[in-house]
Amino acid sequence: MRWRGRRQSDNVVDRRNTRFGGQTRRRTMGGGAVVLVLLAGLFFGQDASDIAGALLSGAGQPASQPAPGPVSTRQQDEATQFVRVVLAETEDTWNNVFNKLGRQYQPPKLVLFNGMVRSACGTSSAQSGPFYCPGDYQVYIDLSFLQELRRMGAPGDFAFAYVIAHEVGHHVQNLVGVANQVRAQQARSSRAQANALSVRMELQADCLAGVWINHTESRNSILEAGDIEEGLAAAAAVGDDRIMQQAGRVAHREAFTHGSSAERVDWFKRGMRSGDIQSCNTFDA
Ligand SMILES: [Zn+2]
Repeated sequence: MRWRGRRQSDNVVDRRNTRFGGQTRRRTMGGGAVVLVLLAGLFFGQDASDIAGALLSGAGQPASQPAPGPVSTRQQDEATQFVRVVLAETEDTWNNVFNKLGRQYQPPKLVLFNGMVRSACGTSSAQSGPFYCPGDYQVYIDLSFLQELRRMGAPGDFAFAYVIAHEVGHHVQNLVGVANQVRAQQARSSRAQANALSVRMELQADCLAGVWINHTESRNSILEAGDIEEGLAAAAAVGDDRIMQQAGRVAHREAFTHGSSAERVDWFKRGMRSGDIQSCNTFDA
């Protein structure tokens, strides 16, 4: 990606060197906030950890992979700038899309953390992978996930951009009310039905990531040869079937929460080709 020299977002919050990424905030929290956090944990606990979460937890199995090696300071600085640029590009894209719909886009904050982080969705470890917390409208990323992507066979800057754009896609779903509707529906559903709804949410976030790159590319032409393939490889790497197989398990459709590799690639492509959020109606498909 030709990302250097582009605008960097101010919405990145660096909590990498704070214990639990926000210890001081917890101390000042009143009883009401604690109850809210608990409620949010109940509602979102399962869904909060994203992408690598299912992989590292082995969907119920203890993680067997060794922890990825440390990322050097120089790599971290570079990655931080990259995250700021990608986030800025999502702001520009979604501002435009929302404006055309006569609405105002409220960009999310993106929190960088190390190891563990507290959010309205509870305490999460880096092992859960990047996630979006609907309760506080924030995206959470530990940069060690870059290593994880490489290990999963999805290296490259655009693979990481896809992951960020996917999490911002969940923010868009939260803003437009899709996330709320789905949670309400899930509360009335069986486990299998709730999982099927979760898959549709995830595939829609993939499609929205595709819409994002379509708009970004037509504004700035930032893509280089091989970028699209990197994004598709990342979408395939985080498919439930691939993850379950790698964990030595039989891929059961009812246990899917994110969609198969083929579905994830397909929806990412749909959004990328059309650049139109109308093409992302995974709930009707
Ligand atoms: Zn997701």
